[in-house]
Amino acid sequence: MRSLGDRTVDLLVIGGGIVGAGIARDAALRGLSVALVEQDDFGSGTSSRPTRLIHGGLRYLEQFDFGLVRSDMRERETLLGIAPHLVFPLPFLLPLYRPSLFYQLKLRIGMQLYDALSLEKSLPKRQHLDRAATLAAEPSLQPDGLAGAWRFYDAQVPLVERLVVENVVDAADHGALVLNHARAVEFLRDGERVVGARVRDAIGARDLEIRARFTVNATGPWLDETIAPLRRKKQRLLRLTKGIHLVTRRATEHAHVLFARSDRRLFFVLPWLDATIVGTTDTDYVGDPAHAAADEEDVRYLQAEARHAFPNAPFDDIYFTWAGVRALVREEGVAEGEVSRKHALFDHERREGIAGVMSVVGGKITAYRAIAEEVVDAISGKLERRGRSSTAEQPLPGARGGDFAARERELSLEPATLAQLRRVYGGRARELLELAAGDRSLALPLCPHHHGVAAEVVHAVKAEWAMTLGDVLLRRNALGLSACQGLDCIGRVADQMAPLLGWDVDRRRKEIEDYRREVEPMRRFSTE
Ligand SMILES: Cc1cc2nc3c(=O)[nH]c(=O)nc-3n(C[C@H](O)[C@H](O)[C@H](O)COP(=O)(O)OP(=O)(O)OC[C@H]3O[C@@H](n4cnc5c(N)ncnc54)[C@H](O)[C@@H]3O)c2cc1C
Repeated sequence: MRSLGDRTVDLLVIGGGIVGAGIARDAALRGLSVALVEQDDFGSGTSSRPTRLIHGGLRYLEQFDFGLVRSDMRERETLLGIAPHLVFPLPFLLPLYRPSLFYQLKLRIGMQLYDALSLEKSLPKRQHLDRAATLAAEPSLQPDGLAGAWRFYDAQVPLVERLVVENVVDAADHGALVLNHARAVEFLRDGERVVGARVRDAIGARDLEIRARFTVNATGPWLDETIAPLRRKKQRLLRLTKGIHLVTRRATEHAHVLFARSDRRLFFVLPWLDATIVGTTDTDYVGDPAHAAADEEDVRYLQAEARHAFPNAPFDDIYFTWAGVRALVREEGVAEGEVSRKHALFDHERREGIAGVMSVVGGKITAYRAIAEEVVDAISGKLERRGRSSTAEQPLPGARGGDFAARERELSLEPATLAQLRRVYGGRARELLELAAGDRSLALPLCPHHHGVAAEVVHAVKAEWAMTLGDVLLRRNALGLSACQGLDCIGRVADQMAPLLGWDVDRRRKEIEDYRREVEPMRRFSTE
């Protein structure tokens, strides 16, 4: 078994979703020594399966959760500032159908509140559109009974996978030890105190002891399983609910907030990359979150509701689906959609007498930075360390500088290729261009219907801990998020990865099979 020798880190973070990655970054930026371990790939859990909105959530106004909306709006503004290459303003329409006077009044107040709760915002204010203006903005909307619409602004993080990776990159740049495909299998104990964890490196097939002054369980929907060996009480901390999304041919001009005819639930139809997302559902979930997938009922529900809202739009052309599992603070006796989305920190010392460990329960992507700040504030207090969070001001790596016009000219890449590299990597596209300048074969496209280049595969492996085809295609270069999901060029990508990771012929074949298996649940309803 390997160990970090005599070195004890200040903080061990278990779980490399957006919350764990954010905590590792915040702590590393404050000068704490940090280790971050992820059992699968960074961002492969719930963080790569959301609706991809950075929003306060109009729905929470209905639940009178003004505090949550207010803090999420503040975070929306912060993320637009520190990650402008990944988080973008998104105009929404909220169409009104035969609205009663009471409903019109309720929405008007809701819209006013939504603006009022985001005082510092840079986004435009709400606007009321009449029927003609609404249909001019979105001609494919169901016209029957349409009275008009509210236009309002929120934000979208189309490549949330990159938001996770950039937090990890910045943590590592500030000294964090980062281990991907490394599962915490056992807590190290010193009496009633947790002093780190034993970690199993799945790909290298070896164990490693990481000793830490404090350990955070940031394993999202896996939280109860992770912490179970330490707890005497067996009451679960989480309620799990599943939400699915359809990715279809581009169907609308705008993003829409809609209410389902069948059950009055709120759902979204959103432009996303070159496609459209329809989502989401909210049903109780039991089982391993890694196995969550859309089923027939989920798909038919969303398709029927979307078709009703846009009668002639191509919702029959499904590229793929994804399903995520929400880790909600456990509440019994309420419907799935009514459970609060607010996070909570569970201090196992205060609550159960187990020192040295804390669990982060629930929370949204929108709030990840603020959650991370709160966690590291609490831990710094326990470790008697000073230093305040700087993550609200420090831009993420891809948002820093990026003048590489000379390299762009030298390589004479297609404008669409350069645009794609900037869209995925922001200013870090420079690193890709440097690789391509050193080896011109890396400037060649990977796939006939995608603008990415071969350098991205090398960069993903060498600079961003990618170890499998899924890591590269689904969570680094976004090729796996296009309609073909990279299946048309899978052999080529595997050929590039093989020498970098020492794969022989059998291993290469196995990796291709593993990728097909990974995307199979996403492609069950694909009409492509
Ligand atoms: C359907 C749906 C839609 C959503 N839409 C939005 C939205 O539009 N906007 C928004 O703000 N939020 C949204 N959310 C919420 C958001 O996605 C989650 O709150 C967020 O991704 C949680 O991140 P996390 O890091 O806590 O969990 P995860 O991303 O699941 O990360 C936990 C990680 O821990 C790892 N892990 C587990 N056990 C171990 C172990 N023993 N050792 C090492 N690693 C381990 C897992 O592999 C995983 O990667 C949505 C959620 C769902 C399900």
